[in-house]
Amino acid sequence: MQLLGLHHITAIASDPKVNHDFYTRVLGLRFVKRSVNQDDPGTYHLYYGDEVGAPGTALTFFPWQGMRRGRSGNGQAIATAFSIAAGSLAYWQQRLTRLGIATTPLPARFGDDVLAFTDPDGLTLELIATNQPDPRVPAPSADVPREHGLRGFHSTTLAVVDAAATADLLTTVMGYRRVATAGNRTRYTVAAGAPGSAVDLVVDPALPRGLSGAGTVHHIAFRVADDAQQLVAHAALEERAVGVSPIIDRAYFKSIYYREPSGVLFEIATDQPGFAIDESVATLGTRLSLPPRLEPQRAEIEAALPSLD
Ligand code: ZN
Repeated sequence: MQLLGLHHITAIASDPKVNHDFYTRVLGLRFVKRSVNQDDPGTYHLYYGDEVGAPGTALTFFPWQGMRRGRSGNGQAIATAFSIAAGSLAYWQQRLTRLGIATTPLPARFGDDVLAFTDPDGLTLELIATNQPDPRVPAPSADVPREHGLRGFHSTTLAVVDAAATADLLTTVMGYRRVATAGNRTRYTVAAGAPGSAVDLVVDPALPRGLSGAGTVHHIAFRVADDAQQLVAHAALEERAVGVSPIIDRAYFKSIYYREPSGVLFEIATDQPGFAIDESVATLGTRLSLPPRLEPQRAEIEAALPSLD
């Protein structure tokens, strides 16, 4: 299969307004889609990203009011890293500190500086100031100057108990290549190491088993260019007896799902058609977007959802 890197990452939150304020105002991402959880239309599905929510930039949330916190640990994506310009780490450290958000500078990782912090639900985020070329343009933001903006995903870190099994799936079926190891962390990339393609595997026997809940990642989605490439991926996973779902039309992309050997839920999603299929780029996120089958219930659904403004 030909994966192009990370497509989106979906995590669990509690209060949707707090989540919305943090990702749009504090981090300066664009709110690109206001939709509902297709399996639970009484709750939101919120999407943040660059100006259009391009694949590789979209962080999405299922915010469930009152959701208890999960526990970060093995079998989970334990950190979500965004790419920022090499000179922008000091800006972010000052900005987050000024806003009362605790930051932790981490030791350089494969030559890049890393700043870690958590979102209001405890989700671990990292900003990686990288010298590697990254032509992706941050979303326009009234709060964050564009030169310091988040350019999209840098990498995800998976905590695995059986690194060999996960690495085998990544390298033999998914086309990833091992590029570097430092300590207990090994980095894999695809698509010639394109920005937003890295998956780091971390082995830490001291970590507990992860528990799903607010502040944890729900799944990691990888990009394929089109429907044909998704069929290739589906066939390759079936041949490997990985237990892959049928193809599901998510309106903004088509998806297949499977669980990697350490328990992290993976998805492979198409680049097309993208978030501008049901509203214009200029107005993305301003209106509740519903799949056609839920349109007849729009009034009830809108009345039940809390305000984000
Ligand atoms: Zn997804």
